[in-house]
Amino acid sequence: MEQIQTRCVVVGGGPAGMMLGFLLARAGVEVMVLEKHADFFRDFRGDTIHPSTLELMHQLGLLEEFLRQPHQETRELRGTINGHTVPIADFSKLPTHCKFIAFMPQWDFLNFLSGHARKFPEFHLCMQYEVTDLLTASGRVTGVRANTPQGEVEVRADLVIGADGRHATTRLRAHFEVQEFGVPIDVLWMRISKRKPDPAQSLGFFDRGKLLVLLDRRDYWQCGVVIPKGDLEEIKARGLPAFQDYIATMATFLRDRVTELDDWSKIKLLTVQINRLREWCREGLLCIGDAAHAMSPAGGVGINLAIQDAVATANLLAEKLRQGPVSLEDLRAVQKRREWPTRLIQRMQVFIHRRIATGKASSGKTKLPFVVWLLKTFPVLRQLPARFIGIGPRPERVRSPAKEN
Ligand SMILES: Cc1cc2nc3c(=O)[nH]c(=O)nc-3n(C[C@H](O)[C@H](O)[C@H](O)COP(=O)(O)OP(=O)(O)OC[C@H]3O[C@@H](n4cnc5c(N)ncnc54)[C@H](O)[C@@H]3O)c2cc1C
Repeated sequence: MEQIQTRCVVVGGGPAGMMLGFLLARAGVEVMVLEKHADFFRDFRGDTIHPSTLELMHQLGLLEEFLRQPHQETRELRGTINGHTVPIADFSKLPTHCKFIAFMPQWDFLNFLSGHARKFPEFHLCMQYEVTDLLTASGRVTGVRANTPQGEVEVRADLVIGADGRHATTRLRAHFEVQEFGVPIDVLWMRISKRKPDPAQSLGFFDRGKLLVLLDRRDYWQCGVVIPKGDLEEIKARGLPAFQDYIATMATFLRDRVTELDDWSKIKLLTVQINRLREWCREGLLCIGDAAHAMSPAGGVGINLAIQDAVATANLLAEKLRQGPVSLEDLRAVQKRREWPTRLIQRMQVFIHRRIATGKASSGKTKLPFVVWLLKTFPVLRQLPARFIGIGPRPERVRSPAKEN
C-alpha cells in the first residue's frame, strides 16, 4: 500500500476544507486536501457567499477577481409570505466592503478557491480520494486510509482535519459523541427551467406553513420544497400532478412548466439535520464545518459558518503547524472559539424549523406573522436579520501568516 507523509491532511474539499487548505498552504504549511468526488458538481450544495466571506476574500486580495466570476448580487432578501411580498433583510448598511449576498454555484466557488490554492507548492488537492478510516497509534490519530483510483493509500500527518460534512467518516471513526437536535422537516430538491419573464432573483415563498425556495442557476431554478420529515411516501401516493400543483400554487409563474417534473427520479430527498459534536477534537484530529456541527439550510448560513471555522483554525494553528505537531489544547482552542457562534445559529435554526413545521409562521389565511409585519413596517429593523445572516455572530478575520517568498 502506498504511504504518504504530510504535515496536515484535510478530509473533504467542501467550503471548510478548501478554505483551510488554502490558508495553511498560504502560511507555508504542507497540506493535502482529500476529496472523494471527481469534481465539485453536486446539486445539493448551497449557493450563497455572504458579506463576511466576501470580506475575507478582500483581506486575501482575491475579491476583485472573485467578483468577476458569474454571480448575482442580492442586496435585500425578500420573501412571499401568505401572498405578500415583503422585505426581510437589508444588507445595504452592513459595515463590509460588499453589501450584498453573492449567489454563485458552489462548484464555481470551490474551483476558484482551489485554483488559487494550487499556486502554493505546499497545497495538494487529491480528487477521488475517499477516506475510509483513521490511522491511530497509542490513542493518537496519525493519519487516514483512503480508497483512490490507484488503490488504497495511507496518508500520515501531524494533524488530521475532518471537514467531510454531515456524514463525516472522520467523526464516525473517532467515535465522537453527537448531540442531535430534532429537525421536523426535510427538503425535496429539483430543477425547473427558467424563462424570460421570470423574476430575476432567488426567492422564498411561504404559504401557511408551506415553504418553497428558488435558487437562480442562470438557465434553471434549483427548487427546494420543505416537507414534514418522513412525508415523502405520502406525497408520492398523492401522485405527481398533485405535487406539481403544490409548487405552482406557491410560485404561480412556474405553472406553465411544473410538468417538467414528470418522474419521481427528478425529485431528490435531502434529509435535514442539525447536530453538534460534544468534543470536536482528540489528539491528532479536529473536526470543523458540518463535520463538527451539521447545519440545516435555514437562513443559508452553513457555508459561511464552515468558512469561519476554517479561518479560525488557520488563525490558531497555522503558525504552530509550521513548526510541527499541535497539542490537544491547541485543538480545543478552536472549538472554544467557534462553539458559541455555532450554538447561537443552530438555536435559531431549530426555532425556525419549529415555526415552519407547526405552521406557526403564518397565523391566518392572509395575515403576516407579527415579526414579518414589524420588518415590513420599520425598515431599520431589516438591518438585524441582515447582520445575523450576512455577517453572523463572531466573524473571523484572517490572521494566519502569509509565507514570505
Ligand atoms: C438542502 C440543503 C441546502 C443548503 N443550502 C445552503 C445555502 O444555500 N447556503 C448555505 O450557507 N448553506 C446551505 N446548506 C448548508 C451547507 O450545505 C453546509 O453547512 C456546508 O456545505 C458545510 O460545509 P462543509 O465544508 O463543512 O461540508 P460539505 O459542504 O458537506 O463538504 C464536505 C466535503 O467532504 C467530502 N467528503 C465527504 N466524505 C468524504 C470522505 N470520506 N473522504 C473524502 N471526502 C469526503 C464531500 O464530498 C464534500 O465535498 C444547505 C444544506 C442542505 C442540506
